[in-house]
Amino acid sequence: MDSILAFDRRHVWHPFTQARTAGDPIPVRAATGAVLHGEDGRDYLDLISSWWVNLHGHAHPAIAGAIAAQAHVLEQVIFAGFTHRGAVEVARRLAALLPGDLNRVFFSDNGSTSVEVALKLAAQYWYNQGQNRTRFLAFDGGYHGDTVGAMSAGHSSGFFAPFAGMLFSVEALPYPATWDGDPEVEARESHSLAALDRWLEHHGTDTAALIMEPLIQGASGMRMCRPEFVSAVANRLQAAGVLLILDEVMTGFGRTGALFACLKAGVTPDLICLSKGLTGGFMPMAVTVCRDPLYEAFQADEFDKAFAHGHSFTANPLGCAATLASLDLTLAPQTTVALANIESHHRERMARLARLPGVARPRVTGTVAAIDVVLDGDEGYGAAIGAKMRAFFTERGLLLRPLGNVVYILPPYCIAMEQLDRAYDAIEAFVTGQP
Ligand SMILES: *Cc1c(COP(=O)(O)O)cnc(C)c1O
Repeated sequence: MDSILAFDRRHVWHPFTQARTAGDPIPVRAATGAVLHGEDGRDYLDLISSWWVNLHGHAHPAIAGAIAAQAHVLEQVIFAGFTHRGAVEVARRLAALLPGDLNRVFFSDNGSTSVEVALKLAAQYWYNQGQNRTRFLAFDGGYHGDTVGAMSAGHSSGFFAPFAGMLFSVEALPYPATWDGDPEVEARESHSLAALDRWLEHHGTDTAALIMEPLIQGASGMRMCRPEFVSAVANRLQAAGVLLILDEVMTGFGRTGALFACLKAGVTPDLICLSKGLTGGFMPMAVTVCRDPLYEAFQADEFDKAFAHGHSFTANPLGCAATLASLDLTLAPQTTVALANIESHHRERMARLARLPGVARPRVTGTVAAIDVVLDGDEGYGAAIGAKMRAFFTERGLLLRPLGNVVYILPPYCIAMEQLDRAYDAIEAFVTGQP
């Protein structure tokens, strides 16, 4: 344990971490279900699905077994000029589950690459047809990953000031963040849609695509919008001939209560990005799925119409095996029951939390619940209260990682209601224990 930390301090660079002030990371020895087992003998309840990736609990035997079996047969193969059973089966099953003619699957390795692929496909789709559509649209607070294209799309999330000069310009429209019982939701949506209408009036013919996180903006603080808003956006884009990219990297595979957020909104996007829960959180893998007409625009006799993009680990067979095993679990009837139970438990405990002073904007979408803690007017990602809350929860054996002053719960689907109660009890204790 001590040597792990000593070498970690000496050699490891952790993501989204200011090492000088963060304190030591917690060495994890193993994990089962919703619980992480620390090297120090302590347990930590994983209430954020290990950064939103885990769906069915840690070390789930069905997924672990599928990966192990696949590793003995075919661990990796070049995906240009070759194909394999697992990739074909993943593509076939995703196409059947996604709405409309979202039929064509491009594989990559993480959420950011799935977004890069979507942005590049949208750009080349117009280029291939000789149309000069080069502008992109997004919503303020949208986060789409940390590669340069994904940062451009998510520039308003506020993390990327050092790279401002490297980013291409993306117009960020106002986002109608809402909560349960919000009296002004319609006014805020009208304001956003009016901004979209104005943009389309001036740039409807030179805009390539709009990218958005449907129903929940994750990284900027679990900011939620209504399904009606997503469908209103989709209708306007369709009328203007602008492509819609839905970034469902976080919202996919049951997170919002439906298999995909787009199903809840009744929308078929032109492109959809999936990663995080794709493999149940076991393997780094992602897909970008597009509609048939988009794929058609890349067919030609000459090579230069092809999509010249690929990653070493495209459609990695271990990732495909994990995906197939995770899909079986996601579609099992007991998961549907679990999703409904988590959502109703969230709503019950949120109603209680919402009555406490210092708790604002309570919100629930499917398995995701969030509040803003507004005790001293300190808000935003860097809010000091975030670090204070994190330490409070860690001491109690709870992995909760507030985004600034936003506390959220995004659990694996195997979580027990008593485990959820432990988290809510601790949040109540923190909020009521403040001076
Ligand atoms: C996490 C996330 C990404 C980036 O995924 P990585 O795997 O971290 O690169 C992109 N979009 C959304 C909505 C995300 O939540």
